[in-house]
Amino acid sequence: MSLTASFERVEYALEHPFTIARGTQDTAENVIVRIEDDEGTVGVGGAAPSTHYGETPDTVEAVLPALFEVVESVGDPHQLDRIEASMDRVVTDNPSAKAAVDIALHDLAAKRVDLPLYRYLGLDPAASLETSYTIGIDDRETMREKTLEARARGFSTLKVKVGTDRDREILETVRGAAPDAIIRVDANEGWTPREAVRNIEAIAEFDVEFVEQPVPAEHPEGLRYVYERSPLPIAVDESLVRATDVPDVADRADIANLKLMKTGGIREAIRLIHAARAHGMEIMAGCMIESNASIAGAAHLTPLLDYVDLDGSILLAEDDFEGVPIDDGSVDLAAIERPGTGARI
Ligand code: MG
Repeated sequence: MSLTASFERVEYALEHPFTIARGTQDTAENVIVRIEDDEGTVGVGGAAPSTHYGETPDTVEAVLPALFEVVESVGDPHQLDRIEASMDRVVTDNPSAKAAVDIALHDLAAKRVDLPLYRYLGLDPAASLETSYTIGIDDRETMREKTLEARARGFSTLKVKVGTDRDREILETVRGAAPDAIIRVDANEGWTPREAVRNIEAIAEFDVEFVEQPVPAEHPEGLRYVYERSPLPIAVDESLVRATDVPDVADRADIANLKLMKTGGIREAIRLIHAARAHGMEIMAGCMIESNASIAGAAHLTPLLDYVDLDGSILLAEDDFEGVPIDDGSVDLAAIERPGTGARI
């Protein structure tokens, strides 16, 4: 058997400019990876690099040739562990580049045995969950409109970006426009520990499900300070990259937010899930702003999760890839009967 890998850089416009505590973006650059076997079967994956984790589209393009060399020299998409270990030896860090390759390999491996990826992984598609839809930081009226639009599109779980000096007003606005929705918030490291406790107490009256990443990841003691005082559950995102980080956050957070773009792919994500379970944590899968080339891969892990935040493709003005359907806000894994991740042009 032989494998051939290639990549293509794509710039997507976003449906709305997207603002979080760290900044604003109105486009997202992904790098799409294709891996083809000698029978012409193609697996697709995608990288959505984040500068927060030291990556850009340029760094992804710079390391992909070395990762492709590993894939092509092993030459067997079912050798997922071997390829993953070799990629880690050849290239350190660069998780989104590795995720693109790993997702494409999972897609290809499952296609070769003619199974949807969840069946290749032995998971139950009936265990479907609702994804949250993210409301970025904006002025009051725009946030109200975005909330009404999300509700009209069938999303009843909203993830609201906070971490500003007007978070109470933001929650008042969103809750006012969506009285029945489940609302979770993400501060993206935007608060100091004391601010976090104060702000969490101030927004708790708006019936908030949990608070993600209240304080900067580089201050783990600050996270513990917040966790011990917060009236709401705490989720970690920036504080948790790989499975080996789980023991360090398990005593200061309730929920682990995994992303394929942090773990470097599906295999490490599954290890992270089991590590987090063993430490008594609940688990969420999140995403960057990504096309379905990569989101589709993450969607197949839904049966292992408690919460889903896989709206990356929905935030794009237009995604050239179709993925796992989201039906009335729910990830409808059972609707995917075609083999692989279901990502297709
Ligand atoms: Mg987050």
